[in-house]
Amino acid sequence: MSFSFSQRLKQIPPYLFAEIDRLKNEMIRRGVDVIDLGVGDPDLPTPPHIVERLKEAAEDPENHRYPSYNGLFSFRRAVSDWYKRRFGVDLDPEREVIALIGSKEGIAHLPLAFVDPGDVVLVPNPAYPVYHIGTIFAGGRPYYMPLLEENGFLPDLEKIPEDIARRAKLIFVNYPNNPTAAVADLDFFERLKRFAKKYNIIVCHDAAYTELSYDGYRPPSFLEVKGSKEIAIEFHSLSKTYNMTGWRIGFAVGNAEVIKALKEVKSNIDSGVFQAVQWAAIAALEGSEDAVEKNRGVFQERRDILIDGLRNIGLRVQRAKATFYLWARVPSGYSSASFSQFLLERAGIVTTPGSGFGDAGEGYIRIALTVPKERIIEAVKRLANLKISVSQ
Ligand SMILES: *Cc1c(COP(=O)(O)O)cnc(C)c1O
Repeated sequence: MSFSFSQRLKQIPPYLFAEIDRLKNEMIRRGVDVIDLGVGDPDLPTPPHIVERLKEAAEDPENHRYPSYNGLFSFRRAVSDWYKRRFGVDLDPEREVIALIGSKEGIAHLPLAFVDPGDVVLVPNPAYPVYHIGTIFAGGRPYYMPLLEENGFLPDLEKIPEDIARRAKLIFVNYPNNPTAAVADLDFFERLKRFAKKYNIIVCHDAAYTELSYDGYRPPSFLEVKGSKEIAIEFHSLSKTYNMTGWRIGFAVGNAEVIKALKEVKSNIDSGVFQAVQWAAIAALEGSEDAVEKNRGVFQERRDILIDGLRNIGLRVQRAKATFYLWARVPSGYSSASFSQFLLERAGIVTTPGSGFGDAGEGYIRIALTVPKERIIEAVKRLANLKISVSQ
């Protein structure tokens, strides 16, 4: 048998981490003690009160049936209360909130509601791959906005050609940012709102990392900008905030028309989030902040240890104010891929080549802080032994 794949599948770029994965598995097979700083998946467990709530809710037959498409009203109300407390933003739980099977699901499906074949979608580069893939699956054409260090890894909206802006339906942005760990302030969000209003573009802000921030810094929501709700949807996730990546629950909030359109797409594809998981998510959103605060402390300590180790061998890296990533410049003479490979072969440390997130990520590696402190300390020791002193 031979099957021919759809154009849509053929358009997916080759998997750029394949070589690193192969090397990593080969080293593990050889018995090397590999430290994996590649994955963006927290190693810490979900706080116990959330797990307890799931257990209770799983026993209630009320929760065994199909859930409602847009989520339990209690869940949507918990989201809207949380937005009010956290960001001072008012949301109508009836019309401006929708539950998602993880925010990835909503991000991937949104273009199906607004993008026709040939339509332009503004996508950052480097970026979380789903913005680009969701666009392609809808038949849209991504226009890449480079995120450059000299601009604080914010897209330069002025550089987007007029005819592209006019044809664009959506613009994806993500702050605090994966993979660069950059943050955006309200001033940038205000400029983004004006740009989007001028060209009638829907702003899709991925806010997955707003709760993982350090040194007392509190990242804003795009919806804090006055008038932003007229043109924006914001995606949020419980995955990173509460160590719930495996649970598959997130949500989107914002413009009622956009939320309604996303609901229409989803109601024809999936049938909602298991209600017991929604009840557990309510417990997370309404519960004490202590667990999240503790998480922030854990990642902050790891960040500081690793930054010292990286700078010690001459690597240039900024002290991330948020996210659990570090975005480090590779030494001269290396590419993203070759330096990643060097760290793996010589130190048994897995990192992610920045070029895997788009060509504008070339020259960087992403390092995830998702292993225990002892392993970070071990990684720092191995780095010191490499004795590359790097000139850049
Ligand atoms: C992890 C992550 C998400 C969250 O995905 P879920 O589907 O909610 O688990 C969304 N956006 C970015 C940029 C991420 O890194």
